[in-house]
Amino acid sequence: MGIKLELEKFTFPGVGEERPLVMAGPCSAETEEQVMETARQLKENGINIFRAGIWKPRTRPNTFEGVGKEGLPWLKKVHNELGMLTATEVANANHVFEALKYGVDILWIGARTTANPFAVQEIADALEGVDIPVLIKNPVNPDVELWIGAFERLNQAGIKKLAAIHRGFSTYGKTFYRNDPQWQIPIELKRRIPDLPMITDPSHICGNRELLFEISQEAMDLNFDGLIIESHICPDKAISDAGQQITPKALKELLDKLVLRKPNIENTLIMNSLEDLRQEIDKYDDKLLDILASRMMVAEKIGLYKKEHNLTILQSGRWDELLQERTRKAMKKGLSEEFIIKVLRAIHQESINRQTKIMNE
Ligand code: PEP
Ligand code: MN
Repeated sequence: MGIKLELEKFTFPGVGEERPLVMAGPCSAETEEQVMETARQLKENGINIFRAGIWKPRTRPNTFEGVGKEGLPWLKKVHNELGMLTATEVANANHVFEALKYGVDILWIGARTTANPFAVQEIADALEGVDIPVLIKNPVNPDVELWIGAFERLNQAGIKKLAAIHRGFSTYGKTFYRNDPQWQIPIELKRRIPDLPMITDPSHICGNRELLFEISQEAMDLNFDGLIIESHICPDKAISDAGQQITPKALKELLDKLVLRKPNIENTLIMNSLEDLRQEIDKYDDKLLDILASRMMVAEKIGLYKKEHNLTILQSGRWDELLQERTRKAMKKGLSEEFIIKVLRAIHQESINRQTKIMNE
């Protein structure tokens, strides 16, 4: 399905003209002092866009759910006294009205809200006719259509300054990351809506401080436009997400360490060598496609044979043996286990689909 979004590039004087656009601030606005002091230190460290959660969507009740509208004058003070742009999360129409009343500069829609089309529509309706940048976090579940749907709803309400925030995806059980990055999903979003600015939220992907740099660098290497990182004057004492927040000084150190690479360069010699290597890749891809097509033809022959002899499509012993043997061989050739298992599963699924089709013919 084609996606037609009417986007307007949004840069602010002195902000967002260079990569990365950085937004930082505490997970939650807690007190006026914490907000003002964090913002002041961030500003000192070169940050111009201040984020803070006023309303917090918490997994369980009876935990801190944000200070609510009481915190909005603090954001206004950050804007007026420090000249920073402010950003907060909105999850319903009332949040939108309150945030607009206090002049919040940028709004974002949280991951749990993006997953709910009723809530997104309510926010879109409340924003009808308002000219404000809205950043949309990916839904908690890895569903690119749901994410695109949220952009469409906002755009249909007239919001043209849109950007995506990639904050990773929920998984069951304890995993390495708090929210699995699954980079292929934001990459697919960018493929479908090429003009959409892309921001990564390393804080909610990592859930800790140790991995923040690695994820930030990866986002830059994937040519993302910006980063939103949680920062608190006293991270260990933060009321929400204490484990992942960093001081403004640590944030500056992280940003200074980032290596910024360019998607293209003027130097034709370098671009030509890259082109040669790409042609080599193209040749291998052609070979791969030929091999895959031939393999599927054999799979179809096997399907016919099984049909004639009334055999089931799946003989699980054979599949298990194949998976183990190929994985072992692939790893010897330096291919990662995770990668080869994914490839083999995809090939096997396609073989089954072809054979099922033959059985039903
Ligand atoms: C946040 O940015 O503080 C937040 C709640 O994020 P998410 O919606 O990504 O969980
Ligand atoms: Mn948070």
